[in-house]
Amino acid sequence: MNRDAAELIEKKNNFLFPCVFHFYKDPPVIERGEMQYLFDSNGTRYVDLYAGVSVVQCGHCNPFVVDAVERQMERLQHTTTIYLTRPILDLAERLAAVTPGDLKRTFFVNSGSEANEGACLLASLVRRNSEFIALRGGLHGRTKLTMSLTGLGMWRTDPNPVGGISFLRAPKCLGCSENPDTCDLACASELNDLIASSTSGSPAALIAEPIQGNGGIVVPPEGYFKRIGEILDSHGILLILDEVQTGFGRTGRFFACEHEGVVPQILTVAKGLGNGTPIGAFIAGDEIASHYTRPGASTTGGNAVSAAAGVAVLDYMEKENLPQRSAELGGLLKARLEEMAHDRPWIAEVRGRGLMLGMELIADGGAPDADRTDIILEELKDRGFLAGKTGPGRNVLTFMPPLVIENENIDALCNALEDILAGQRPG
Ligand code: PMP
Repeated sequence: MNRDAAELIEKKNNFLFPCVFHFYKDPPVIERGEMQYLFDSNGTRYVDLYAGVSVVQCGHCNPFVVDAVERQMERLQHTTTIYLTRPILDLAERLAAVTPGDLKRTFFVNSGSEANEGACLLASLVRRNSEFIALRGGLHGRTKLTMSLTGLGMWRTDPNPVGGISFLRAPKCLGCSENPDTCDLACASELNDLIASSTSGSPAALIAEPIQGNGGIVVPPEGYFKRIGEILDSHGILLILDEVQTGFGRTGRFFACEHEGVVPQILTVAKGLGNGTPIGAFIAGDEIASHYTRPGASTTGGNAVSAAAGVAVLDYMEKENLPQRSAELGGLLKARLEEMAHDRPWIAEVRGRGLMLGMELIADGGAPDADRTDIILEELKDRGFLAGKTGPGRNVLTFMPPLVIENENIDALCNALEDILAGQRPG
């Protein structure tokens, strides 16, 4: 291991909480970023394929975003919402224009966890009920409530989670015992039973990611959210869609729910909106938002600098048509990954949309192959590519690069990955 890394790991072991882990046996020390690239302390260049977990959609230190942030930093950093300032309002107005349906009013916070926490508060105010439904395999944050809503054991650290939460099975076809041709979306239809058997009959909301990110890039079967929406509507239950990871062009549309033709009553965002500047928000239409009238304030939520970053992100995305770019380049990458899966039964599936792609690796008998996933990740890193891993079994190689990645980077990645896979034992 290089000396820089050894020194930092020692500091980390001394001064951070033991729960904070890092990737790689021989980790690089990342010192600098430039669009789709990261550079380590030896000056080695890597193609970033994880974007800080779907955050840096516009690229690292994107000059357009940096310039907007710098100009705002020099003028005014922070006041809170007790004073009138322009950036937070400009960003709210812009979000109303890019979000689907009647979504229009934004409450700004600092992170995805806080956005989901706030969305649940809003749902409770509207529905006068604090029960929730979530999906197995979902991840919604690390506050008390959002951790309790998370359906991945690894991220459920709290020994006393909040009650009143019922979990629907993950909408994952791979490994499902139903026949996909005849199942008629059983995974969605079960929601009726779940409401009847496990709730008061009138829970506040169901929260879900349109594509499960940490759950292993799980794309629900076609029509899933339409069916879920119909069932929720028939009971008056709200739908909260968590687009913290899928938002801002990641899946080839501005928001992933646009693929589903479904508009939630509450949408949550974070990550990509700030391109690395901390920000989060929950967004609702006039009627739903009208229930939140008692004073509400987040000290630094939507502060002038984060808001200026958000406006610059939206400008840049529109100027460069990043969602379209994500759809096109994601299509190319997916096709190459699918070719690699062909004839390799230990690659169980390639799935995802746009530049949110996963390759699930299994061992004999179908168990998750986390070891092989780690080996491939390490080899990719040694060849200059920093990919991610997700899934309950930590066996889904994950590709979520900055959306400014170029064709030649994808080509080089696929050549390296083909080479690595060819060197792998067959079964
Ligand atoms: N929701 C989703 C879908 C996420 O992926 C994450 C973080 N990975 C969160 C919520 C929590 O966001 P944050 O870490 O900003 O609190």
